[in-house]
Amino acid sequence: MTIVIASGNRHKKDEIARLLPSHTVLLPADRGIEFEYEELGVTFLDNAMGKARHLFRLTGEAVLADDSGLCVPALDGAPGVFSARYGSKDGAAIFSDSDRNAYLLENMKDVSDRRAFFVCSMVLLVNENRFFVAQETVDGEITLSPQGSGGFGYDPLFFFPGLKMTMAQLAPDKKNEISHRGKAARALTGMLEKAAPV
Ligand code: IMP
Repeated sequence: MTIVIASGNRHKKDEIARLLPSHTVLLPADRGIEFEYEELGVTFLDNAMGKARHLFRLTGEAVLADDSGLCVPALDGAPGVFSARYGSKDGAAIFSDSDRNAYLLENMKDVSDRRAFFVCSMVLLVNENRFFVAQETVDGEITLSPQGSGGFGYDPLFFFPGLKMTMAQLAPDKKNEISHRGKAARALTGMLEKAAPV
């Protein structure tokens, strides 16, 4: 199946393409579509569904939307659904990944409870009335400084005590094996295998 993903993020596209090897994964730009969506939802699922429906109206073909983010319980769940805009004054995603990471570390400088988790809500929408949804998480801890250069976003700050590595130090396939996005994609493909043909 050809699936257009509701994102302009090439890192995400690469991760998702590796996770769905039997499908052709495209960006909206590959279809000549300019995709923009204002994430106003209060949950990851609201935003994932909103992005999927919006893109489906533009493409008319199967779309996959993922809304994801980092949650830190000691910061009352922040950055949460605001992960892409964390720290920007007017809510716009003007900060770079490294600016956001610096901002998070600054906000956690006196915080001893470093536990955190990533969330990924994923919607594969075949048409307005037929869709598959999965939401998954992965647990870790926030480091005291960035480590590693792989992945994107908060990966250099997200530490796995069991592996003694941050998400940014993992090979792409290892990240996909354990990440929130990898788990959600596998849950979705499991559903697709059991469903009637799409
Ligand atoms: P969105 O899902 O495109 O709205 O973006 C969510 C934001 O959460 C991204 O811009 C990243 O800052 C962060 N994020 C989501 N998934 C990951 C991940 O796998 N690693 C690191 N940061 C992530």
